[in-house]
Amino acid sequence: MATLRTLAFDNSFARLPDALFSRVSPEGFAHPHLVSFNPQAAALLDLDPAEAATPEFAACFGGQKILPGSEALAMKYTGHQFGGYNPDLGDGRGLLLGEVLNTKGERWDLHLKGAGKTPYSRFGDGRAVLRSCIREYLGSEAMHHLGIASTRALCIVGSDEAVQRETRERGAMLLRVADSHIRFGHFQWLYHSGQPELLKTLADYVIARHFPETSGGADKYLRFFREVVQRTALMLAQWQLVGFAHGVMNTDNFSITGHTFDYGPYGFLDAYEPGFVCNHSDHSGRYAWNQQASIGLWNLNALAHALSGLIDHEALVATLQGYEAVFVGVYADGLRAKLGLQEERPEDRGLAIDFLELLMKGGLDYTRSFRALATVRSDDRLPALRDDFLDRESFDAWLQRYQQRLLLENSQDAERAIRMNAANPKYILRNYLAQTAIDKAEKGDYREIETLRRLLEKPFDEQPEMESYAALPPDWGRHLEISCSS
Ligand code: AMP
Ligand code: MG
Repeated sequence: MATLRTLAFDNSFARLPDALFSRVSPEGFAHPHLVSFNPQAAALLDLDPAEAATPEFAACFGGQKILPGSEALAMKYTGHQFGGYNPDLGDGRGLLLGEVLNTKGERWDLHLKGAGKTPYSRFGDGRAVLRSCIREYLGSEAMHHLGIASTRALCIVGSDEAVQRETRERGAMLLRVADSHIRFGHFQWLYHSGQPELLKTLADYVIARHFPETSGGADKYLRFFREVVQRTALMLAQWQLVGFAHGVMNTDNFSITGHTFDYGPYGFLDAYEPGFVCNHSDHSGRYAWNQQASIGLWNLNALAHALSGLIDHEALVATLQGYEAVFVGVYADGLRAKLGLQEERPEDRGLAIDFLELLMKGGLDYTRSFRALATVRSDDRLPALRDDFLDRESFDAWLQRYQQRLLLENSQDAERAIRMNAANPKYILRNYLAQTAIDKAEKGDYREIETLRRLLEKPFDEQPEMESYAALPPDWGRHLEISCSS
């Protein structure tokens, strides 16, 4: 196992042309302290978890000490923010510290968020606040354990440094661990600034590192793009299935490897409200929950534009047209699994949509309602779930169709319940749960972060002692407004 001194750095991105980034040292905190540590992410790096207890740990991930082998740099990228192109982006408050190889041969980027100003900070202070670090830390781990490709996080380091947002808050840093930090926006920058040679260099690097299976042959750029389209469509379908709203689907927040990336004002659905907008700065609802699938395609279109020097137009268009089929396929299969159906039948789509409509009309909780469906027996006309619906008549009609459908495939209740519980999480990171951990942390009590981290490691398991975390949000916890400032 590695210690902080012996982490196996091998910084391939830092060996690319200098024009792609700026070398910047972290601006460390004067008094860093460990807020939370995730041993699972440490395992990805082969890092001995005992290191977390040492003062060096908080010093290294609070930007005060440089890890041996790290070569910190700020990446340059651009992107479309809320539909408008912004040429002035880049790592403004986060640094790629380097890449660590583990004994499985995996390569992990270490990125320190909140590490101070860079040439791309514009008017920002280069800092991140404790609140947003906790949200990213818990959100990214929650998504990973829901089976959705996501960045991970090793730790949060706190400080006594004041950071001004809407109010004065405490600065913190988050150590993000990810397979890649290359965004759609990296390619957009090189395209829009007229640097085709460098764009090709970056594409070759990305293909060799992240898409080696597509690296042979003359059409490697097309095959790479096809893979990005498929991964993005898969990710979007999975977001919809768990009721995740990203909040800021700008192209600079889209990872080229199809991982859920850059957690800001995201939210999980409580009640099933398709038009849910979690980011309270998103006035037009561009990134509303039910707009996400088309925004995913919109972003891929922007990426296609950036790759137009490498792939011919017709091939790009045809590839983009493949997005919908992947999305619809994964989403339909996922909904069938959520309903506990094994066979595929034409009426399944309507059955799923009508259940969702009942949830919407009744303002019912998305996660709890699907979870409860597993307990409905094929012959039970009055399941407990029925009590949640005000419109009993519509529910009864739907239930009858559902039970008939179960009968058609000779569904066995007990076995179906097991399958459904593996498709319908019991525990999600409801906004109010994250907020509770944040409120406590801001008073210096970090225990709730650890409680949630552990809870969300097993979102599909019954955890009887944690039952209250699966409850409906309290009144104060519904429709919390999440600010974009972080
Ligand atoms: P985000 O909303 O975190 O995805 O950031 C969008 C852009 O603004 C990126 O280029 C960030 O690096 C930059 N940015 C966000 N917050 C800050 C900050 N506090 N200081 C400097 N740059 C920032
Ligand atoms: Mg971002």
